Amino acid sequence: DLTYTGKYIPLSREELIQKLDDALTQSRFEHVLRVEQMAIELAKRNGEDIEKASVAGLCHDYAKQRPDDDFLEVIKKYHLDDLLLHYGNAIWHGEVGYLLVQDELGVTDIDILNSIKHHTTGAKYMSKLEQIVYMADYIEMGRDFPGVEDARKITFNDLADGVAYQTKHTLEFLISENKPVYPKTIDTYNAWVNGSN
Ligand code: GDP
Ligand code: FE
Ligand code: FE
Ligand code: FE
Repeated sequence: DLTYTGKYIPLSREELIQKLDDALTQSRFEHVLRVEQMAIELAKRNGEDIEKASVAGLCHDYAKQRPDDDFLEVIKKYHLDDLLLHYGNAIWHGEVGYLLVQDELGVTDIDILNSIKHHTTGAKYMSKLEQIVYMADYIEMGRDFPGVEDARKITFNDLADGVAYQTKHTLEFLISENKPVYPKTIDTYNAWVNGSN
């Protein structure tokens, strides 16, 4: 039913799925299939392109299982901010991994690439597709944290309210665990929760 046009990725959906199956563990592979389904659902509800939602949902965690050295190589190759060196896979698989999606899977669409780049931290400005991927990752049907049902209800009612909900809860979690907070995560909080920038 979902036949790719070639506008966003030079692969068929079947070829993309095969590459993801090769790149990811079984549980991570199943997660990306569920994120694709939720991204499509949110795209339908919000008037976004279904094919873009599919490609972005499937590709969002493409780099998740890569060794640290692969990310360090990309950080060097593209002269990315040295600040990234203070973080690890949790931040790198999106913030750096989108370049592996571009270089290895051939995705050129900037909106899809930004959706992958920002799927973990969010960003001050997020397109509709970026909001969709950020939320689909959080509320896909395999997630079962306390509050996920509230998060789904809020997000189906209003996508931006869902973004605010996730941002607030993620920041609370990071602080409660004494984790380093990536500056973009704070930018997202200030833009989407506090609203004052
Ligand atoms: P997943 O890849 O589907 O597991 O989900 P995400 O890409 O959304 O998140 C990966 C991890 O990054 C989660 O454990 C988040 O709690 C964590 N994370 C999100 N924002 C930050 C941040 O600002 N700093 C740190 N250290 N971790 C973060
Ligand atoms: Fe992720
Ligand atoms: Fe997420
Ligand atoms: Fe994910």
